[in-house]
Amino acid sequence: MSDISASEYISRQDELEQEARELMPWEPKTCTYEMGPLKQSVFACRSHKNIGLCYSCSIQCHTKCDIVELFTKRHFTCDCGTERDNQEPGEEGFRCQLRKNRESDVPSLTNRYGQNFRGLFCECEKEYDPDSNDTMIQCVLGTECNEDWYHDSCMGKKIPPLESFDAYICWKCAKKYDYYLKRIISHPLGEKIVAHTLAHGVEEDKEDSKPTSGMKRSANEVDSQHNNDEYSIFLKEGFSEKLGELKDSIEDHNDKLYLFLNDLVPFLIKDEPVYEPADDGEDAPDDLVSNVLRNAMHREQAIAGISAFNALKMKLNEFLKPFAETGNVVKEEDIKSFFQRPEETSK
Ligand SMILES: [Zn+2]
Ligand SMILES: [Zn+2]
Ligand SMILES: [Zn+2]
Ligand SMILES: [Zn+2]
Ligand SMILES: [Zn+2]
Repeated sequence: MSDISASEYISRQDELEQEARELMPWEPKTCTYEMGPLKQSVFACRSHKNIGLCYSCSIQCHTKCDIVELFTKRHFTCDCGTERDNQEPGEEGFRCQLRKNRESDVPSLTNRYGQNFRGLFCECEKEYDPDSNDTMIQCVLGTECNEDWYHDSCMGKKIPPLESFDAYICWKCAKKYDYYLKRIISHPLGEKIVAHTLAHGVEEDKEDSKPTSGMKRSANEVDSQHNNDEYSIFLKEGFSEKLGELKDSIEDHNDKLYLFLNDLVPFLIKDEPVYEPADDGEDAPDDLVSNVLRNAMHREQAIAGISAFNALKMKLNEFLKPFAETGNVVKEEDIKSFFQRPEETSK
């Protein structure tokens, strides 16, 4: 084993198992396709046209793919093994290894694909960086931004402290529903719902809009006007309950605000729980973890939460460094041994 000691090796295994346990809360054996649109953890496959996969399919079906974890999306149906999925059938001819369909299934018509499915997040359109100190917050409304994630530093100047709010509505979604949100803000219950509003990009515009020429000036004026009415909203803890009270206080059920709360964004009042399979108690997590680690060399991608995957890659690089330094050739067995659990610790 080159110059890595057995104890180092085993402690690395322990760390990997710990990571895998965090990433694999349950055994990946059920595709959610047949359950239709769900609020669930979604994984984008960048090797197959940026489709969205359920948790189990990201592990079992698209094993060698470039997978990006998107965390939860509402109302999403798994694309694995549908006409949208151009992955070649597996050895046994199945399109989805879990549903075992030989013909491609009909894909969902209601799935929405924002930039997250290309691995890009926030207004700055960057890939997720696990080493960054930025906090990322998902837009709770999400109808315009496809539930995008935003760096706190990209939200605007003077971001309120994280502990002072419970949820965030981005300026794109706020702009779309400006009429309704302004009514909520000015409602007597508004102060129990909204913690802060934050103008989007205003200060920057003041700097930019120093006119240098007539042409430029008019372009910038449009821009700054455009940005001035863009604002994000930070919601207080308990906002759902108070929004429910607000809705119930509207007697006219044809009132636009009532219809907005009742029909368009009911999830702001009562959110659907994130899908989890029923616990059948069959698989102890320890067995699951060692199964996964024992499985195959491509599993490093299968257990790819974005941050943990990168941590794993770093550890693998560390593991491989001695080989590089001594000029020894790395064999497949060496990589496998990195992912395999030592025999004596498994039953
Ligand atoms: Zn699936
Ligand atoms: Zn794939
Ligand atoms: Zn599948
Ligand atoms: Zn950003
Ligand atoms: Zn949004």
